[in-house]
Amino acid sequence: MMQADLIVIGAGPAGAAAALAASEAGLLVVLLDEDASPGGQVYRAPPAGLSVAPDTRGADERAGDALREAVAASAVVWKGGARVWSISGAFRVDAVTAAGSESFTAPRLVAATGAHERLVPFPGWTTPGVIGLAAATILLKSQGMVPGRRTVVAGCGPLLAAVAAKIVAGGGAVAAIIDLSGPGDWLKALPAMASRPDLLRQGLGWALKLGAACVPVLFRHTVTAVSGGEACEAVTVAPVDAEGRPTGGRSRVFAADALAIGHGLVPGSEIPKLLRAEHRFEPEAGGWAPVRDAFGRCSVAGLYTVGDGAAVAGAEPARLSGRLAGLAAAQDAGRLPAHVSAREAGEARAALDKALVFAGAINRLMRARPAMVEEIAKDTVICRCEDVRRGEIEAAISAGAREINQLKHFTRCGMGPCQGRMCGETAATLLARHVGSREAAGYWTGRPPLRPVPLADLLGEFDYGDIPVPNPAPL
Ligand SMILES: Cc1cc2nc3c(=O)[nH]c(=O)nc-3n(C[C@H](O)[C@H](O)[C@H](O)COP(=O)(O)OP(=O)(O)OC[C@H]3O[C@@H](n4cnc5c(N)ncnc54)[C@H](O)[C@@H]3O)c2cc1C
Repeated sequence: MMQADLIVIGAGPAGAAAALAASEAGLLVVLLDEDASPGGQVYRAPPAGLSVAPDTRGADERAGDALREAVAASAVVWKGGARVWSISGAFRVDAVTAAGSESFTAPRLVAATGAHERLVPFPGWTTPGVIGLAAATILLKSQGMVPGRRTVVAGCGPLLAAVAAKIVAGGGAVAAIIDLSGPGDWLKALPAMASRPDLLRQGLGWALKLGAACVPVLFRHTVTAVSGGEACEAVTVAPVDAEGRPTGGRSRVFAADALAIGHGLVPGSEIPKLLRAEHRFEPEAGGWAPVRDAFGRCSVAGLYTVGDGAAVAGAEPARLSGRLAGLAAAQDAGRLPAHVSAREAGEARAALDKALVFAGAINRLMRARPAMVEEIAKDTVICRCEDVRRGEIEAAISAGAREINQLKHFTRCGMGPCQGRMCGETAATLLARHVGSREAAGYWTGRPPLRPVPLADLLGEFDYGDIPVPNPAPL
């Protein structure tokens, strides 16, 4: 078992910055990620053997290269392809790696595991060809593949334009962009977005590309159904009000073999939940978020949480919050004089406050719209792993389920391989309608495994024949 001063889980902008800051201060840092290369979601590297055409390389690719070079040039012990499935004590981390099962231990731990997608179910959402909007970025970045020949891109926030523009650049057709927000919502966001001229320019570049490709944009619309059965064939959309509730206006049907759809991001705080850190419901952070100080220190001693896994805010706030936690971990370990830490943290803090202005505007566009959940039909699947429909959830609530873990026990909703990452938001929103609030509905209790892992990987060379058979007791 490897002993370190600090373990960082997640090598996106947040985790990489935390690891680098703590390592520069002299801590022995292990950085683990299930991906083969550092970069996280936004700076994802193409897999070995695939390269990105030079003319399609943009700011994200350059920032990703810089991040990977910085990690490679540092003293950080990088463990790529390490899927963390269990954390116990303070702190033992178990991961499945190419070498089998490996364990690491350190008195301090940074959880920087990023966000996951919010997707409000609708009839046909489990049809092959329907994928998450953020998941589409993985397909586009890691494999250079478009989701289909003709894709409808739907949901909310800037990923709509980012994904649609990448599909067009990749040679695919975008049938339409279906945006929950209205033009007025985007106009309201403009002043805050102007605080990051580079990102605003990037967004305008996407808009121009989509305009040149004559991609129709339907504002204040949502997807109401996907038809096709075995594969996506058509996507029906209808107008909605500001809360995502259908207005009863004329619906339209787009022929398409793919739909990329997402309704915002939720902090992926499974590690703080597993370690029983205190959480608080923060709608502006994306949902349930670990209670943390300005440096990411949680209620559990030695545990820090940063980036989108703590509060959804995007790449630059993730990097800066990671740096703050790295400095704090070094200071808490007695390896960084307080005055040095205060100076460096002051700079990072000021930059973070500035970056959060942009993030706030984006988060308002990507906010949850509980009214959409109210509209879900009784026979629509909510938990696709365990095939639990809305009607079954309502029946369990009527039978007395008053908290999300009770609902899980009654229905098996959230018990499948995704462990509630897909259905959790919808199930809790449905429950909140009956128990009064998301706070009252609660959140899933964190349990290992954090990620599904094959038992064979944990057992290694195990053979039943190797178990010593004790001598039979004398009669
Ligand atoms: C699917 C997805 C795609 C996105 N695409 C974009 C995009 O294209 N552009 C954009 O601006 N924003 C994108 N975002 C938003 C993005 O999360 C942030 O902008 C930014 O990447 C957050 O940085 P982070 O370091 O907090 O987390 P991330 O960048 O998400 O990094 C978290 C890292 O933790 C690792 N991890 C998580 N759990 C484990 C575990 N149990 N074991 C080992 N490793 C683990 C993941 O592999 C990941 O590399 C995306 C979000 C999601 C969920």
